Amino acid sequence: MLCFDPIAKVDWLVTAPLQDEIDYDYAVNVAERAMRHMSQHRIPPTPDNFKVWAGYAQGVPASLKRTIDVLIGNKRTFDAQTNRDLVATFAESGPGVASASQQLSTVVDAAREFLSTAIADNKSQIKTIGDTAGAVSGGADPKLLVESLVKELNRAANRASELEQNFAASSRELDTIRNSLEKAEERSKTDMLTGLPNRRAFDEFLRLAQTAAMEKGDPLGLLLIDVDHFKRFNDGFGHNVGDQVLKLLGGVLKERVRENDLAARYGGEELIVVLPAADMHTCAAVAERIRKSIAEAKITRRATGEALPGITVSIGVAQFRPGEPASEFIERCDNALYAAKSNGRNRVMTEHQLGSDLLAS
Ligand code: GH3
Ligand code: MG
Ligand code: MG
Repeated sequence: MLCFDPIAKVDWLVTAPLQDEIDYDYAVNVAERAMRHMSQHRIPPTPDNFKVWAGYAQGVPASLKRTIDVLIGNKRTFDAQTNRDLVATFAESGPGVASASQQLSTVVDAAREFLSTAIADNKSQIKTIGDTAGAVSGGADPKLLVESLVKELNRAANRASELEQNFAASSRELDTIRNSLEKAEERSKTDMLTGLPNRRAFDEFLRLAQTAAMEKGDPLGLLLIDVDHFKRFNDGFGHNVGDQVLKLLGGVLKERVRENDLAARYGGEELIVVLPAADMHTCAAVAERIRKSIAEAKITRRATGEALPGITVSIGVAQFRPGEPASEFIERCDNALYAAKSNGRNRVMTEHQLGSDLLAS
């Protein structure tokens, strides 16, 4: 029976390597446990869901196990959205990774070939030198032998420097691939107009922040920010000017959030901020500072020096409830934003204020 460490076993379930590497009994045991969990929670046994639950059955990675345990502890139904979230967080690799890894493996294959050539060369040189030494003891002409040795050593030196150059070229190629991967990754997560992280980056950040909040027992806050009467602004001053305003708002957000927070463009004229380890009081204070600095900003048309009317935003604030899906968390924040709009705009509303203020209005 083969022996694997648990991580390698999870790798197998995710990437399915060669048949002869599989520990059959172990795999059957994991599959049975995964299926038992899935049927208990009425989760459709699709390949993606299976990857998640096979990981859970083995307790690897620990964050997957903890997340699902919290969800079970909260008596959450594993509906389609929750299953999709779990798959996206724990069982999917990002786009473009396959082709990048293909490129990388080409470079690694080349490097491996250089090494095996170098080893073969070495063996043949050792053999030649050994033959020469044998010839010396056999009484051959020492001058000829020394010449042959020098020739062989020169050949070895040339071959070594050729290999070194090939290797250096491979390393440069690796650096280029790594750089272009990093740039592509950054572009795919950045909103081109505001320079803020985009919706995709936000989704990913929030998923990780939710898991971290559950693991550490930390609070997690969310601000949803929407420009007030932006349509009117666009209609009055043109879409291009509107775009410039969105860019300015992006700048304000970047300035106002801490390094561990994430301010992103959620879509259109809506921005969103994730505040890890921030309680409601802190979140409301951050939201108020953002609201105020936007309301107080003076906007001037650079070309003409014309002053444009100020812009205001409304902000909804919510706190994560451990175990809830991202969609519910965002929806509660959106409800608070909606309340801020209905209560007159240019204001911050927290989900805690919702009931009373709405009743009062
Ligand atoms: P409210 O205070 O209720 O939010 O009013 P509003 O006009 O902002 O809301 P509504 O949702 O009706 O309109 C949003 C407008 O935002 C519509 C569109 O003109 C503008 N908008 C969305 N995305 C962009 C963008 O990328 N650039 C510009 N310039 N405008 C945008
Ligand atoms: Mg809007
Ligand atoms: Mg708006």
